[in-house]
Amino acid sequence: MIARTIREARTWLEPRRVAAIALVPTMGALHDGHLSLLRAARDECETVVMSLFVNPAQFGDENDLARYPRDGEQDIALAKQAGVDLVFAPSLDEMYPPGFQTWVDVTELGSILEGRFRPGHFRGVATVVLKLFTIVRPDRAYFGQKDAQQALVIRKLVRDLDIPVRIEVCPTIRDHDGLALSSRNAYLSPEERERALAINRALRAAESAVESGTRDAAAVVAAAREELEQAGVEPDYLQLRSANDLSPVERVNGSTLLAVAARVGRARLIDNAILGGEK
Ligand code: AMP
Repeated sequence: MIARTIREARTWLEPRRVAAIALVPTMGALHDGHLSLLRAARDECETVVMSLFVNPAQFGDENDLARYPRDGEQDIALAKQAGVDLVFAPSLDEMYPPGFQTWVDVTELGSILEGRFRPGHFRGVATVVLKLFTIVRPDRAYFGQKDAQQALVIRKLVRDLDIPVRIEVCPTIRDHDGLALSSRNAYLSPEERERALAINRALRAAESAVESGTRDAAAVVAAAREELEQAGVEPDYLQLRSANDLSPVERVNGSTLLAVAARVGRARLIDNAILGGEK
C-alpha cells in the first residue's frame, strides 16, 4: 500500500494497531543500509511502514536539496521486495502546509558536530521525525548508526517529549571496500571514491591504535588524521566523544565515538566508529 496523505496512512493503520508497528524513516534513494533497517523491522514487527520523504527542512543548502537523488518508483519496488506493508510518501504540502511554523529543536545535542556545520539540520530532522511519529504512532522506529548523532538526537527527543516509541539503532552497512553506504556516494567520481576510502582507513587506524593500547584521545585522533592527510582529505571535524551523550572525552574508555565528516569532491560524507566498547 502507498499512502500519499496523512489521512490515508492513518486510516490504513487504524485496524493494524492491535499488533506492533515499525517505522523506518528514509529520504529514498534506497541502498543496502536502508534495506538492513527494513529487514530488522520486518523481523521484529507485524506491520512495517517506510516513510519516503526528502525533507527540505533538514537541508541547509538549496543545491544539496535540488540535486539529492530521487527515484520514487525504484524505491517503492525495493520497499515492496523488502516486505514493507505501507510506504508513506507524502507531498511537501502534506508535511509542511502553507503557514507551517512549529519546530522542535534538540538544543544542545543538535548544535555540536554536524549541527555546527549544518545549522538548523537537526531541527529539521527532529521536526519531521516527530511529525512521522505522531502520524504513524509506531511501536518501534529504526535508524542507522551511520548517522550516530541523528540517532542520539532522536533518542533525546523521544525521552524529553515522552514519546511512546522504542528506538532501534542498526549497524552501519559498508561497501566491500569499506565505504559506508550513503545516497550521496552517487556524487563521487571514481577518483573521489578512491580518496573517500581514507575515511574508513582513518576509523580503522583509530581502532588499531586503541586495540594496541592507546587510550589518549589526541593520540587516537592523530592516528586517524594521518590517514586522511595522506589522501589529501581535510575533515570538517574528526572528534572523539562519548557514544552516549557526545560529551568530549580525553581518553578512550567504555564506548567512545570517533565521528568524522569530510567533503570529497561534491559529496559531504560522514562516518563513525565506536571504539573501546561494543561495535
Ligand atoms: P536517509 O535516507 O539518508 O535519511 O537514511 C535513512 C536511514 O537509513 C537513517 O536512519 C540512516 O541512518 C540509515 N542509513 C543510511 N545509511 C546507512 C548505512 N550505510 N548503514 C546503516 N544505516 C544507514
